[in-house]
Amino acid sequence: MMKVSNTTLFKTQCFIDGQWCDAISGLNVDVFNPATQEKIGTIPNMGTKETQLAIEAAERALPEWRNLTAQERARKLLAWHKLIIENQEDLAKIMTMEQGKPLFESRGEISFAASYLEWFAEEGKRIYGDVIPSNQKGRRLIVTKEPIGVCAAITPWNFPSAMITRKAAPALAAGCTMVLKPASQTPYSALALVALAEQAGIPAGVINVVTGKSSEIGGELTSNPIVRKLSFTGSTPIGIQLMRQCAETMKKVTMELGGNAPFIVFNDADIDAAVEGALIAKYRNAGQTCVCANRFYVQEDVYEQFVTKFAQRIAALPVGNGIELETIIGPMIDEKAAQNTQILVDEAVNQGAEILVGGKRHSLGGSFFEPTLLTNVNVDMRVAREEIFGPVAPVFKFVSEQDVIEAANDTEFGLACYIYSRDVGRIWNVYEALEYGMVGVNVGVLATEVAPFGGIKSSGLGREGSKYGIEDYIEIKYMCLGL
Ligand code: NAP
Repeated sequence: MMKVSNTTLFKTQCFIDGQWCDAISGLNVDVFNPATQEKIGTIPNMGTKETQLAIEAAERALPEWRNLTAQERARKLLAWHKLIIENQEDLAKIMTMEQGKPLFESRGEISFAASYLEWFAEEGKRIYGDVIPSNQKGRRLIVTKEPIGVCAAITPWNFPSAMITRKAAPALAAGCTMVLKPASQTPYSALALVALAEQAGIPAGVINVVTGKSSEIGGELTSNPIVRKLSFTGSTPIGIQLMRQCAETMKKVTMELGGNAPFIVFNDADIDAAVEGALIAKYRNAGQTCVCANRFYVQEDVYEQFVTKFAQRIAALPVGNGIELETIIGPMIDEKAAQNTQILVDEAVNQGAEILVGGKRHSLGGSFFEPTLLTNVNVDMRVAREEIFGPVAPVFKFVSEQDVIEAANDTEFGLACYIYSRDVGRIWNVYEALEYGMVGVNVGVLATEVAPFGGIKSSGLGREGSKYGIEDYIEIKYMCLGL
């Protein structure tokens, strides 16, 4: 069991109305380390009743929180930000322990998570209204902005901290209160963050966390009329289900869902840079990010060169427990994920794909999977059509710009995509033709708190981060004033 120096961060209870508490039933769920399969601890197995209590606490806390000035809320968010940075190493260890990602990635995610608090603390001060030139004499038209109210957030296991703050920071900055449900496999990062929110002086009830039965908790968060907004990050099928559930009470929703990112390398690209970008875009978090490159398209003249260099680099990636400093590729989230990845690879091979690197469960066993490179793939294979969510890179050869645009857009998803080219005219044309919410050009990583993150088509609704990210937590109100 890994040691953290600030033991107050390792919480095994939930946080409702400023109190650390257990499930009413007293029942717990176990949480395991994906690298070692060891039990890390337990979390309360909560359901409908505790979720109601959390929602009611958030409702009680709302009037006082929304009536603070934006500056007062900002000071608390900045105090929370400071505590996260001060505890970065412990938070990173907790994340690696429950999620598996290498420690350097966990440290990076903690900085990234903290950055949303700093950003939205400032953005909260800039929620401006409008005065509209009147269409009639004797009338004044004024627009004001208000916090939407009690918000709910449901988050996935692949970014256990950043997905919490990307929602909590704009919600709290706008004057909303919240109930959070983290993924059952990675609850401790969320609980540690909330422990720091408490220390930062965020009042009781403003932020609440419940863990346990996802369908019961999700059922209450989506049906309770007190909740005015749901922000969900996770898979597309669950997102669709939750959106449907929210329809009855007409909640505002933000949906950050799955992707199927194409990574396109043109003949004129800097191939070494493209290989670097491909490695990070594909193998970060063992291929388990929504913006991970899912399909590689390489133009015919540079295909051999790119594939040879990419294969060499993939074969040299150190796989291991994320807590060991040399590890670049950690385990997948659980053994089932590794089994599913094997099925996808085997299916592709049966349909004619060729394995250039990897292709099987790693000799470390458990949830480890070898970083894999597949060639001879075709569009009918599931590796090309579905989100792989594992360390497998299928590579296609293409001839023309038009062909690759059509292939890249031939998916229900529209989250992130990547282009490598040095021709500015081509970059602009392809950028405009790609049906995606985010386009990385000559970069393999594009998420930052200052830019709008989100997708189109089945990849979701709404944007997080940037000046746009706070809008989903705001209601517009209009006054027509007769003089
Ligand atoms: P998931 O299975 O959809 O789970 C996400 C969250 O939803 C978890 O907290 C889960 O709880 C909860 N959940 C599951 N079933 C539910 C239900 N019936 N009602 C209410 N909540 C429910 O997704 P995942 O496997 O954790 O995450 C991977 C997916 O997230 C991928 O598709 C990835 O692309 C996507 N993702 C998208 C973004 C983005 O910004 N677009 C970012 C990261 C990840 P339990 O853990 O308790 O089951």
